[in-house]
Amino acid sequence: MVNQIIPFSCVDGPGSRFVVFMQGCNYRCKSCHNPHTIDLCDSCGDCLPSCPTQALSLITSNNKPQVIWNEALCTQCDLCLTVCPKQSTPKTQRYSVEQLLTLIRQQVHFLNGITISGGEATLQLPFIIALFNAIKADKDLAHLSCMLDSNGSLSTGGWQQLLPIIDGAMIDLKSWQQDTHRYITGRGNHRVINAIALLASEGKLYEVRLLHIPGISDFDTELTAVASHLKKLPVNVRVKLNAFQHHGVTGTALSWSTSSETQTKQLAAQLSQRGVRNIVLPSSYL
Ligand code: SF4
Ligand code: SF4
Repeated sequence: MVNQIIPFSCVDGPGSRFVVFMQGCNYRCKSCHNPHTIDLCDSCGDCLPSCPTQALSLITSNNKPQVIWNEALCTQCDLCLTVCPKQSTPKTQRYSVEQLLTLIRQQVHFLNGITISGGEATLQLPFIIALFNAIKADKDLAHLSCMLDSNGSLSTGGWQQLLPIIDGAMIDLKSWQQDTHRYITGRGNHRVINAIALLASEGKLYEVRLLHIPGISDFDTELTAVASHLKKLPVNVRVKLNAFQHHGVTGTALSWSTSSETQTKQLAAQLSQRGVRNIVLPSSYL
């Protein structure tokens, strides 16, 4: 179940990448910039009247209602998103592995790799495994690196299934203390910490992403603990700082302060002074 496909991206892993954003997430981050990726549409049909171009229709399939989105008629006005009682989106599509391979083959000469993102991509673990195995088995695609962008909530058993077929992963660390992480995301961060350690030990950790929300995420107050953990990572692992902004955010987080370039650079300097290496600053503060 796919929310969006971007045929070329240079911010979702190394080089030029084909990125698949999967629908559905097991976190409910107050800071989410794309909250419509969290819940799955239950085909209630409430959004149909809001669509000015009749891009949405309700059919019955296997005795169940199903909302169908016609991409060709959609103008991306996003009115449907504003009325959905689940804050979900009808603008998702199901793809088979073969359908994605066809799209990837069309771009292959311009790509360094594939990134599966979300939502939380690992909620669709069997599909990711099938897709990455198919890429590795295809002589024309096998050179593409297969990477995962994840909130880190997958169990160790799940990561063990992925480790043989992924080339790397980008993991979000939204906060250091359990309570703060639970406040921001709805879940604790034990699995995130475990995932970072496991991927690092297997040489599959490409990047850890810290979300800096002044006064909310606790990286400023937990500097010593965070730095002593991050400085043990292999030197090639990027520590990317993301500066919280209001774009796309809804609810409580709209009242939170955004992270300025000055504040983010100050955090970077403080982490660096404590021995954290390979810190990457945000490419944008919008
Ligand atoms: S975003 Fe597309 S599907 Fe949604 S209301 Fe607008 S035109 Fe219709
Ligand atoms: S997107 Fe929301 S409003 Fe539209 S059918 Fe799905 S659950 Fe209902």
